[in-house]
Amino acid sequence: METLVTIERAIEIARQTAIINASESITLSQAHNRILHQDLASKVDDPRFDNSAMDGWAVRSSDQERVEIGTIAAGSPPSKIGVGEATRIMTGAPMPEGADAIVLIEDGLQGKANTNFIRRRGENLNKGTVALRAGQVMTPAAISLAATMGHATIPVRAKPRVAVISTGDELVTPGEKLGPGSIYESNSYGLCALLEKIGCTPLLQEVVADSLETLRSTLNSLDCDVILTSGGVSMGEFDYVRKLMEKEGDIHFWKVAMRPGGPPLFGTWNGTPLFGLPGNPVSSHLVFTMIVAPWLSPEIPLANNVRVLLKDSVKGAPNKVCLRRIQISSEDGQLVAITQTHQGSGNIHSMVAHNGVTFLPPNTSANSGDIIDALWFL
Ligand code: AMP
Ligand code: MG
Repeated sequence: METLVTIERAIEIARQTAIINASESITLSQAHNRILHQDLASKVDDPRFDNSAMDGWAVRSSDQERVEIGTIAAGSPPSKIGVGEATRIMTGAPMPEGADAIVLIEDGLQGKANTNFIRRRGENLNKGTVALRAGQVMTPAAISLAATMGHATIPVRAKPRVAVISTGDELVTPGEKLGPGSIYESNSYGLCALLEKIGCTPLLQEVVADSLETLRSTLNSLDCDVILTSGGVSMGEFDYVRKLMEKEGDIHFWKVAMRPGGPPLFGTWNGTPLFGLPGNPVSSHLVFTMIVAPWLSPEIPLANNVRVLLKDSVKGAPNKVCLRRIQISSEDGQLVAITQTHQGSGNIHSMVAHNGVTFLPPNTSANSGDIIDALWFL
């Protein structure tokens, strides 16, 4: 077991434990945000045939005078024109044999012949061209491209099924009655949404009390690919996730040099990868964003690395990367950042009031006017 590792090392250690890599075939209407599992080659040329890029007339550029002999719509069968002839043509309609130019509708039949308004067969893609590669996230444009290439179904990576467990005697599900000393449980909802965002299937479990036995029996009852817990991983007397994993599981790392989010652990429980996230709501979100997501779905980042000009001073942390919440915006072509709320790791509001975090190296603070590394949430 390694302790107090860097964020990069934490991801590296997690990557030594494989996640499921099964493939499934899905239709394009189910494909949004899924990750392609094999290269996809085009089944057709794109365009399939030379066609007009504009509404107008298909003409012969060598003709001085033209007579209109018909109309070609998109979807029309092949046609021909002879010397002195022109046909009306609509955008996307196949060029008639003998025509080599388009006259725009607004220029009139005897107007200027343009050879550049013809979209040539195969100018975008040739049949057999691999235009989407394994690992591609199926964005709306990628889905349209797969359809253009003639694929009705595509092979995608099966979604990892991730059990989400909150631990803590104080936690009460929203909607239920709060007792003295209890609080609403919030992490599991945010974590499930984060999992959906990166293409996993969250399996929300009931809150587990701070008891070694309950935790053990819950972990043993799970049917999932990955376990994500929150709470119970620090040094406290009732931090049973850490205690149980120490005694009966296998811990690969514990503690990461980041603030907030210091005490996460990663290991396996009966062979199933387990991420133990800290209970503080900001910590669990940020550990997920910085470490869990890059391990589970490296293809779908949750933040972009940017450089920002600080408008407020921010304090760093001894020996840890410091992730202060910042609001990033663009001002005169420059990304600038301000801080707006209390920064405590328990204040989830700070993750709503801000759209990014600083990436302050260990033992460094930054002043208003400094340009620093930051992460801008996607
Ligand atoms: P722990 O990591 O268990 O020591 O918890 C750290 C802090 O996070 C405590 O204030 C907990 O009450 C709080 N916390 C732990 N789990 C959750 C949760 N699922 N939802 C909201 N707050 C939590
Ligand atoms: Mg706890």
